[in-house]
Amino acid sequence: MVPAVFLDRDDTLIANSTLPDHAFRGGRRGDLADPEFVTLLPGVASACARLRAGGYALVVVTNQGVVARGGATLAEVEATNARLESLLPDPQRTGQSLLDRVYSCPYHPNGSVREFAVEHPWRKPCPGMLLAAEAELGLDLARSWLVGDAGRDIEAGRRAGLDEARLLRVGPGQPWSGLPAAVDHILGHD
Ligand SMILES: [Mg+2]
Repeated sequence: MVPAVFLDRDDTLIANSTLPDHAFRGGRRGDLADPEFVTLLPGVASACARLRAGGYALVVVTNQGVVARGGATLAEVEATNARLESLLPDPQRTGQSLLDRVYSCPYHPNGSVREFAVEHPWRKPCPGMLLAAEAELGLDLARSWLVGDAGRDIEAGRRAGLDEARLLRVGPGQPWSGLPAAVDHILGHD
């Protein structure tokens, strides 16, 4: 079993809150579902490479309620995630990404698209995406970490049973400025 670092997508790996209004779908800021606007935050590529070299599986867990709200299709979200994967190529594995898997949750209970307008165990702060990854990728959750910018990210890690000390919140005013600082902490700890 390998340890993982669970990574939030928006404002953890890629820019979101700093993007212009026209980057977002359905007029709702935050709903990024256009590959053209996928931009890695500073230091993210090297931070991910360092984690992989350190023996961690990298697993993205992202809420994408934009699908339930009708602002984008599932295919557009998947294309956006594929763009992220392509921006993080693994130099050791030709044609593969540093990211082992990207889980995204298209559900939201207040959505307008009936198929997706339900609460779902994958939607953070629920831990479903982390638990699915544990089973599918053979992860050791006791040695795993989570990095995210939102309280619901941290709560999802907590509900998955991760060690409280391995839940790292990043961003302005948070304990870690961003993913590079969080990775310094992870690699210095284990
Ligand atoms: Mg986020």
